[in-house]
Amino acid sequence: MKVLVINCGSSSLKYRLINMDNDESLAQGLVERIALDGSSLTQSVNGKQYIIKELIKDHKDAIRLIIEALLDVKYGIIKDLSEISAVGHRVVHGGEKYAKSVIINEEVMKGLEECVKLAPLHNPANMDGINACSILMPDTTMAAVFDTAFHQTMPEFAYIYPLPYKLYTELGIRKYGFHGMSHEFVSARAAEIMGKDIKKLKLITCHLGNGASICAIKNGESVETSMGFTPLEGVAMGTRCGSIDPAILTYIMKELNLTIEQASDIMNRKSGILGVSGVSSDFRDVEVAAMKDKNKRAQLAIDIFCYKVKTFIGAYSAAMGGVDGIIFTAGLGENSPRTRAKICNGLGFLGAFIDNIKNNVTGKDAEISTDNSRIKILVIQTNEELVIARDTIKLINKNYC
Ligand code: AMP
Repeated sequence: MKVLVINCGSSSLKYRLINMDNDESLAQGLVERIALDGSSLTQSVNGKQYIIKELIKDHKDAIRLIIEALLDVKYGIIKDLSEISAVGHRVVHGGEKYAKSVIINEEVMKGLEECVKLAPLHNPANMDGINACSILMPDTTMAAVFDTAFHQTMPEFAYIYPLPYKLYTELGIRKYGFHGMSHEFVSARAAEIMGKDIKKLKLITCHLGNGASICAIKNGESVETSMGFTPLEGVAMGTRCGSIDPAILTYIMKELNLTIEQASDIMNRKSGILGVSGVSSDFRDVEVAAMKDKNKRAQLAIDIFCYKVKTFIGAYSAAMGGVDGIIFTAGLGENSPRTRAKICNGLGFLGAFIDNIKNNVTGKDAEISTDNSRIKILVIQTNEELVIARDTIKLINKNYC
């Protein structure tokens, strides 16, 4: 059985075709600059790249091109569209309505429409991808898999903000959390590596990429996470400020005479690692600036990031009444031994000790704690696409049983 996974943004679209018999990725690709000059599709099959540069005017055009690329006699991987058993779509926001993945039908599309106000930049693009697929692959079952769903198990005291309660009841303002598929995948994999039942574990998963979030997972369920109503809350990120004193917002708006859009732009696109370092939002550039050029602000940005992550690990240990495993994942978590070491340095009081030799690892799953560390520290490669594909298959199997 093959599942096509679609992750649709406003001007880009990532896709992957997965063989569900062995979890193998058969093809993966990226459509960039949809509806813009210089649009293109890049597909990789068996290590070979196939690039098409042509005008891709909308999401339907992008899906049409993906289908053609997958079917291409020379560069493709399938002979007939019917080989694709189902399509799994990543949907960023499922609100409170969707605590689990669902098969897409008309009623679900209405439900997704209701969630647009919670994620105005993301959900419409996700829905464009779904609409395009339903036109071009009308006979293929499709599922929606949500970034927020995994966190719907959080207790009320964790997800309600101490604001007037009617902001929750009338506007849906509460903590939702994001990166759910990644936290779910790496926690399950961690339990497997630790040889323990996830239902008996307390885990802290650190998804550290351009966007970063930490999650406390008790007995297999998310009980707390650092991103909130939007993906702006939590640790400092590539360009996002993370949690700050909310009064700063009104203060800078008044002092600098900013519009809502300008203030939002500062917090979402000009802050975090980029804002403090003034160098880049990419950790690799900032690490080079700090190490080679002795750039003090670059070092400060790294210090702030690692310190924030460390404080979340401390807080979440308290929230769960202990911790058995700390997991690092995503671009930075999987590839930067230096960042992992800096975050874990000083966590000995919890019983977490990183092994500097084992920590020198990238590109594979590994345990990086010392043999006598009570808490296991692990690096795990995330695979959000596989979570989407697995959920999709589970749903179609259930549907036809
Ligand atoms: P993601 O959003 O998961 O793709 O992660 C992107 C982030 O991971 C960027 O800040 C990259 O700089 C960082 N990253 C990727 N590879 C490395 C590496 N080898 N060393 C340090 N940071 C890395």
